[in-house]
Amino acid sequence: MTEKSYIDIFEENYEQIEEGIFRAAQASGRSREDLILLAATKTVPVEVINHAISRGITHIGENRVQEFLSKEEKLLTDAKRHFIGHLQTNKVKDIVGRVEMIESVHSMKLASVIGRISAERGITTDILLEVNIGREESKSGFVTEELDEAIEKIAKIEGIRLKGLMAIPPICEKEEENTRYFEEMYKLFIDNRGKKIDNVSMEYLSMGMSSDYAEAIKCGSNLVRVGTSLFGKRNYK
Ligand SMILES: *Cc1c(COP(=O)(O)O)cnc(C)c1O
Repeated sequence: MTEKSYIDIFEENYEQIEEGIFRAAQASGRSREDLILLAATKTVPVEVINHAISRGITHIGENRVQEFLSKEEKLLTDAKRHFIGHLQTNKVKDIVGRVEMIESVHSMKLASVIGRISAERGITTDILLEVNIGREESKSGFVTEELDEAIEKIAKIEGIRLKGLMAIPPICEKEEENTRYFEEMYKLFIDNRGKKIDNVSMEYLSMGMSSDYAEAIKCGSNLVRVGTSLFGKRNYK
């Protein structure tokens, strides 16, 4: 796709997504300012991302370390950068210190490597824990019964600060099924927020994508990650 058409698509979609978020916020008794729209920008050219930022996008999320690094220098600095893709431990050194948050922390091993490298560099990295809420073989993340112990251990790791939870629920045929996973996530989020563990601040519940962001917000999400509905179809997932 040409950059021109990407920008056209963004212009056609952005207002509509904002409107959807606004309405879902109202429906859940919150205001737009309580929610973050993160643009999932994998495969999107940096010029188009910068256009989106200049139009008001405050957060962007990249999936692949190499792709992020190739865009990094040219990206406008006005938007916060999150890493949302599957991160291998051997790539942690390339990303730590370059993003505001790593949302997709799927294992203790990954958490400890992020902690170690951050501490070596004298910084603290904000992270979310990825929950495999649908218990899918094909997805990574903590299953619900592993979560309590993981949070307790992660709270003690130097160099990271746990800020919340993230999930990519299974693709559901029926809206009610989707809602069930979102509700389960919200319950985990609230339960853990109530525990007030040192070094853990449950501020973000990152769930909801192009097809279900409004539903996710209504179930308590405060960070939605939207790609296709903002930029159009892409070549890889
Ligand atoms: C690509 C991606 C999104 C956005 O998905 P869309 O369906 O295109 O909105 C959200 N979260 C993650 C982790 C992604 O990889």
